[in-house]
Amino acid sequence: MSYKVYVDQEKCIGCAQCYAVCPNKVFVIRDKKSIPINADKCVGCRACIVRCPTNAIRLTPRDIYATYTRFYSTG
Ligand code: SF4
Ligand code: SF4
Repeated sequence: MSYKVYVDQEKCIGCAQCYAVCPNKVFVIRDKKSIPINADKCVGCRACIVRCPTNAIRLTPRDIYATYTRFYSTG
């Protein structure tokens, strides 16, 4: 299953732990915030979630995300 990864910008403190641990270089750090610039490369290993000190990272299975998108876009 593939995943979509999000960073809550309000919670992120820019510590770069997610950047350091991600095997697929999903994140970049810009202006002391983590941006999941390569979110499509996330394989759902959860290493970033385990490391993040502020619980800022969320994963959503891609098929559920697609369902949400359809649901909200048809409202
Ligand atoms: S779950 Fe794994 S692959 Fe996905 S962004 Fe986090 S560390 Fe990278
Ligand atoms: S590990 Fe969490 S707090 Fe640190 S840069 Fe990544 S998202 Fe932000």
